[in-house]
Amino acid sequence: MNKSASMKNVMIAMEVLLCLVALLLLLFKHNVDGSQVHPVAEQDEVMDFSDFLEAGEEPVTHPDLSTFMEEHPDHTDSITEAETEDAKIQTEESYQTDQRDNWRLILVNKQNPVPADYEVKLTEISGSMQVDERIATDLAAMLRAAKDDGVSLSIVSAYRDMDKQTKLFEAKIRRCMKNGTTYMDAYSRASESVTVPGSSEHQLGLALDIVGSGHQALDESFGDTEAGKWLARYCDEYGFILRYPKGKEYITGIIYEPWHFRYVGREAAREIMGNEITLEEYLWSMGDQ
Ligand SMILES: [Zn+2]
Repeated sequence: MNKSASMKNVMIAMEVLLCLVALLLLLFKHNVDGSQVHPVAEQDEVMDFSDFLEAGEEPVTHPDLSTFMEEHPDHTDSITEAETEDAKIQTEESYQTDQRDNWRLILVNKQNPVPADYEVKLTEISGSMQVDERIATDLAAMLRAAKDDGVSLSIVSAYRDMDKQTKLFEAKIRRCMKNGTTYMDAYSRASESVTVPGSSEHQLGLALDIVGSGHQALDESFGDTEAGKWLARYCDEYGFILRYPKGKEYITGIIYEPWHFRYVGREAAREIMGNEITLEEYLWSMGDQ
């Protein structure tokens, strides 16, 4: 083999080598950019307090609820009377039709966003935390009853306006995207534990995230704590329901949330908790939706 022929062979070998390197670089880049090649395995992630902190919500300090309880003494009789009165009017006309207009039973989920013209009169619980003023007396009664049973409850989230819900949701998406998940995957994952802005019951002022004093995580384990069990057992007596029960995720579209309670009024609450159904099923059973 002469000198120029061997040079030609070396050149060909080098070109092949360069092509191989370029190909490898291309493959590597695609792997880094495109999570679709090897999707990062995702852990089940539930909302924790860092979501609130990132979203600019108040740090969790377990607010002092004693003033709220004092300001809303028990008027059990008048509440029952008010509900009975409502029911009476409904019976006289058409119970089912009127139940649809019952503010206590407004259905808000991914398919049913908060109506654009929804207005709510709020009352303060503690600090900047507020709820629909119509549920304050029942809420105070529930907190007091728990206290009497030696269970100290703490409210970590109540009414949220659209802005706060949006920040919370965006913070959740950012957290989901940290491990390389694409925006669309992160969006759908986030919507399993933080409600899509516009579809949150917190925007109604009728929902509360409640934990036991000292409990620091909004996770499934709260359901096994003394406070979690107390709430699940007695919430309906005060008009509240465990809104996202275990095993009903296919109906609610939301993971099991033992800390999220929704006010629906005593009648509906007893029916829903007693039959272990969801608000959606309760409304379906009345021929609504
Ligand atoms: Zn909640």
